Amino acid sequence: MPRISYVNGRYLPHAEAKVHMEDRGYQFADGVYEVCEVARGHIMDMSGHLDRLDRSLGELAIAWPLERRVLPAIMREVVTRNRVRDGLVYLQITRGVAPRDHAFPAPSTRPSLVVTAKRSDPQAARRRAETGIAVITVPENRWDRVDIKTVGLLPNVLARQKAKDAGAQEAWFVDPDGTVKEGASTNVWIVTADGHLVTRPADTGILRGITRATVFRIAEKLGYTVEERAFTVEEALKAREAFVTAATTVVMPVVRIDDKPVANGHPGTVALSLREAFFDVAEKTQA
Ligand code: PLP
Repeated sequence: MPRISYVNGRYLPHAEAKVHMEDRGYQFADGVYEVCEVARGHIMDMSGHLDRLDRSLGELAIAWPLERRVLPAIMREVVTRNRVRDGLVYLQITRGVAPRDHAFPAPSTRPSLVVTAKRSDPQAARRRAETGIAVITVPENRWDRVDIKTVGLLPNVLARQKAKDAGAQEAWFVDPDGTVKEGASTNVWIVTADGHLVTRPADTGILRGITRATVFRIAEKLGYTVEERAFTVEEALKAREAFVTAATTVVMPVVRIDDKPVANGHPGTVALSLREAFFDVAEKTQA
């Protein structure tokens, strides 16, 4: 079955799903994106992702390419046409195609919209969660508007490659004061010795993760308290547990930081219980 993707109003075989070379996403990374998890045939937390998309578009003064209420139907259609029961649905909106010039193009320029979906193996993800992942730390070198989910991800790409080269799966951006910001594509959490969850406030300097928000709700349901405050790499190494959250990983235990073990070097029960409860607590939209 060929993969089908959506490009500006058309569902096309993936190999033919193209945008013009003067698309401003290609030329300037002048665009925003969202990724939703697809689990057991449901698009997870879709409203939260579309609310954040709306905010990202607003912050960059990019118009919606179509009415927001139409987008869920396109996302569901792409998921269904690709028979994705577990995986991801990706969408990207750029400022559109225009002759290359840094300043915004004519207001009549139509923003570009692409939507793709791909499958992933839920058993492999579960096995990975049972083992946990290793992370490295890298100095924060991104701009100060990482609250906007733009496709300008070069520091994240370089950080993730550095992690891969070191045999790790994620890189954590760390501020000069030693506090952890977030991962290349994840938010970061620790569990203190007395069982409290700690995660950095999302007011500035990190992306306000949709999975992060759902984990707040799960924590409340399971009776864990959450402190929103900065923490250092040292504190994370001494923590009872560390984990990351994202639509792509849900809740993923972190067992090594810069090749040193977190606690006993094995995933902890808090992270695994949050992961376990995720499907029930998150918003589910049938694809
Ligand atoms: N932080 C960054 C830099 C990300 O790219 C992502 C997701 O891609 C996240 C955090 C987690 O966000 P979400 O839970 O909405 O996927």
